[in-house]
Amino acid sequence: MSLKPAAVLDALRAVIDPDLHRDIVSLGFVKDVAIDGGKVSVVVELTTPACPVKDRLKAECEQRIRALPGVTAVDVKMTAQVRSAAASGPVLPGVRNVLAVASGKGGVGKSTVAVNLAAALVKTGARVGLMDADVYGPSVARMVGGKGQAQATPEGMLRPFEAHGLKFMSMGMLVNDQSPVVWRGPMASGLIQQFLTKVDWGDLDYLVVDLPPGTGDVQITLTQSANITGAVIVTTPQDVASEVASRGLKMFGAVKVPVLGVVENMSYFVAPDTGRKYNIFRPEGGEAPYKRWGVPLLGEIPIEPKLAGLGDKGIPVVAAEPGSDTARAFLELAQRVAAALSTVTMSQGASGSPVNVDADGPHLTIAWDDGHVSQHNFQRLRFQCACAQCVDERTGKKRIVLEFIDPNVRPKAIEQSGRYALQITWTDNHSTGLYTFDRLRQLCECPDCVATRAAR
Ligand code: ADP
Repeated sequence: MSLKPAAVLDALRAVIDPDLHRDIVSLGFVKDVAIDGGKVSVVVELTTPACPVKDRLKAECEQRIRALPGVTAVDVKMTAQVRSAAASGPVLPGVRNVLAVASGKGGVGKSTVAVNLAAALVKTGARVGLMDADVYGPSVARMVGGKGQAQATPEGMLRPFEAHGLKFMSMGMLVNDQSPVVWRGPMASGLIQQFLTKVDWGDLDYLVVDLPPGTGDVQITLTQSANITGAVIVTTPQDVASEVASRGLKMFGAVKVPVLGVVENMSYFVAPDTGRKYNIFRPEGGEAPYKRWGVPLLGEIPIEPKLAGLGDKGIPVVAAEPGSDTARAFLELAQRVAAALSTVTMSQGASGSPVNVDADGPHLTIAWDDGHVSQHNFQRLRFQCACAQCVDERTGKKRIVLEFIDPNVRPKAIEQSGRYALQITWTDNHSTGLYTFDRLRQLCECPDCVATRAAR
C-alpha cells in the first residue's frame, strides 16, 4: 500500500507545540508534504525563527513520520514566518510585532536589556528594529554605537540608523550630545508620534521599544497610537519593595497590552575564578517580586562587569561575546519572548474572543464569537491556574493540590486582559493567574469537548 499525505498529516497531529498547546497540523504549521516512494519530505513553518523548541519539534516530527509503515527516509525542513498581531494600519504598517520594554524605575538595566534582546533576536534570523522611546535618558544610540546624521527618504521619511543587523532610532542621534534635553510631557509625546509615523521602519518581525521608566505621557502615547503586541518588565532582585513596577503592570492591563513577563536583571554573579554563583542583590529570604505579580519569569540576566564597558563602546554583549554566559542568557530570553509573542498572536487568531462570560450559575459559562459555549467547573478551573504561584515554571509541576482547593470556590471578578486572556479573581483571593482564550478552549468541559477528547 502506498504512503498517502493524509497518513503523514495524521502522524504529525501527535506533535504538540508546548507553548500554544495545540498540534502543529491544526495550527497550520505543516506547509508541504511530499512523498517519493518511501521518502517523505515535509516543511514545517513556525511562528518565529527564535522558537526555543525548534530542534525538539523537528526531532519529534522525524520520529513520528519514521514510525509510519513504508517510510525509508525522512526530511523535515523547519522554516519560520513571524505572524502579525493585528491587521496592519497606518502606524507601523510593515511591523509584525511591537514589544515594549518597561521598568518601574531607572537604573535597573532596562536599556541594556532592550538593546541585547533586540540584538539576540537578530541572531535568530529575525528582522528587528529598536526604538529608543526613553526620551529622558536616551542611551540606545550609545549602546549600539550609532553615529552619523539622520537621512531622509525621497518620501520625506526619516531613515532609521543601522548597526549590528538592527535598525534603530534614538533621540540621542538627533540632538547634540552636549545639549541637555528637558522634555515636557507633550513634547515627549510628540517625539514618539514622530518615531512611530515619520520613520521608515520598513518590514520588521519585531520592533523593540525602550520605554522611559515609570508610567507617563510616553507610555500613554505609545499605547494609544501603536498596537503593542506585548510588554516585558525589567526588574532587579532589589526591586522587591518597589510598587512602581507593579503600577506598570496595572497600566498595561488598563490599556489591554498583554504583559508577557518579567526579566530579572543583575540576578546573580558568577565568580570568574571559581565559577560559583552568588545571589548578591537578593535580600536574605527575599522573594522575587514577579512571584507576587503572577506573571512568568522570562529570563535571568547575570551581573556582568563587562556590560558597562561594552555599552560605552557601542557593542551589545550578544555581538561582542556570543559564547559568553551573559550572551546565552540574552539569547534564551529572546527565545522565550518570541515564543510568548507567538502565543499572543496565535491565540488572537485561533480561538476568537469571548462574547459573554457568566459566573453566576453552577459553573463558568463562556460564549465565544464562533458560537461555541464552553463550561468550566470552578474548582477545577482554579486548579488549572498557570501562574508562578501555582506552577513551578522551571519544572512545570503544579504547586497546588486539587483536593486542597475550596470546593465552593468561585470567581469574584473576571476581567479581560489584552486581547488574549481572562484574569480571574477567585473567592480564595487568588487573582494572579491569566487564562488565555486558547487554554480556556482546551479546558472546556462541555459534553461535546469531553467526548472529542475521550475519542483521541
Ligand atoms: P536603565 O535603562 O534601566 O536606566 P541601563 O540599561 O542604562 O538602565 O543600565 C544602567 C547601568 O547598569 C549601565 O551602566 C549598565 O551598563 C549597567 N548594567 C545594566 N545591566 C547590567 C548587568 N546585568 N550587569 C552589570 N551592569 C549592568
